[in-house]
Amino acid sequence: MLQVLLDKLYKENKLGRDEIVLLLRQLDEEHKEVLFNYARLTKERFYGKKVYMRGLIEFSSICRQNCLYCGLRAQNSKAGRYRLAKDEILECCSEGYRLGYRTFVLQSGEDPWYTVEKMVDIIRSVKEKFPDTALTLSIGERSREEYEAMYAAGADRYLLRHETVSRRLYEQLHPGMSFDERQNCLKILKEIGYQVGAGFMVGLPGQTEEDLAEDLCFLKELNPHMIGIGPFIPHSETPLKDTKGGTVEDTRVMLAIARLLVPDSLMPATTAMGTLHKQGRELALQAGANVVMPNLSPVAVRAKYALYENKICTGDEAAHCRHCIEGRIQAAGYEADMSRGDSCRLHIG
Ligand code: SAH
Ligand code: SF4
Repeated sequence: MLQVLLDKLYKENKLGRDEIVLLLRQLDEEHKEVLFNYARLTKERFYGKKVYMRGLIEFSSICRQNCLYCGLRAQNSKAGRYRLAKDEILECCSEGYRLGYRTFVLQSGEDPWYTVEKMVDIIRSVKEKFPDTALTLSIGERSREEYEAMYAAGADRYLLRHETVSRRLYEQLHPGMSFDERQNCLKILKEIGYQVGAGFMVGLPGQTEEDLAEDLCFLKELNPHMIGIGPFIPHSETPLKDTKGGTVEDTRVMLAIARLLVPDSLMPATTAMGTLHKQGRELALQAGANVVMPNLSPVAVRAKYALYENKICTGDEAAHCRHCIEGRIQAAGYEADMSRGDSCRLHIG
């Protein structure tokens, strides 16, 4: 039965919710290897051996939200807070460009200090100075007008994980936020024309196999260009400090199924995977991931951007990260690609 489900997933790139639940419940070591192998073959059919490099700039650790899982939540008075000025952001981009990066990801807490005018100015400046780069934003929920203005200014892509498609779980984890609003933001971003990234965490307290199956079905339906899936890592200064968190193995299973459901997606091997396991990112690449996001943030602020604790690479210069990750990609049997790395969907229409 397992083999039948896996073959259907591999050949047809689809599986119903109940079939995914069955798969998750019954998956043994032997079939897990079959799943990972199918995910690798599928990824390589679309992207070959390439793993795309994105330079990540975490430009503000200040956040107005209170997501229960996150170390940057507003109510965490122990969090170190900083904001990078436009010039500092441009400096990070210059360093990244010099190292060969052609995609920059600007990520932050939900920080209203960066008004849409400020964001538009930053985006325009980056794109004027580095016209052959792609720019990705990951700054949370904003209005349609703001998303439109930032797109018009030159932003190409937007990462906004849906976090969980279970309304019950979403509302438990996000006091003061609305499930419908999150979903609406994703819809708007898509309508505007951004290459959109959705995704979720694995191992949230109260998350069931049914919830995860629904997250995967949601991704299939949304059909985003990018999919971010990583393990939840509890942070000691949050209400979820005593919970268990996600595992590398469970996350790999989610990555592999997501790869098979949305075969041409761009999926990062997350830093959270590298934090849980020395070879976590390599293991993610071998389960279907094909993007890495080395850090370009100034070393002086790195440790303060603590969504979770013990984050790797917080003391390393950008040049070091670039070479370290390249070595890891090669060791995993892949090759680092420094180009813009757009979704192959854009080339074939
Ligand atoms: N503020 C923006 C972007 C930064 S947070 C936003 O929320 O969209 C980026 C992602 O980090 C979130 O989408 C969430 O899925 C992930 N994250 C937050 N806390 C985490 C934790 N403790 N462990 C693992 N991932 C976490
Ligand atoms: Fe803020 Fe994003 Fe963390 Fe939520 S996940 S508290 S929005 S930084």
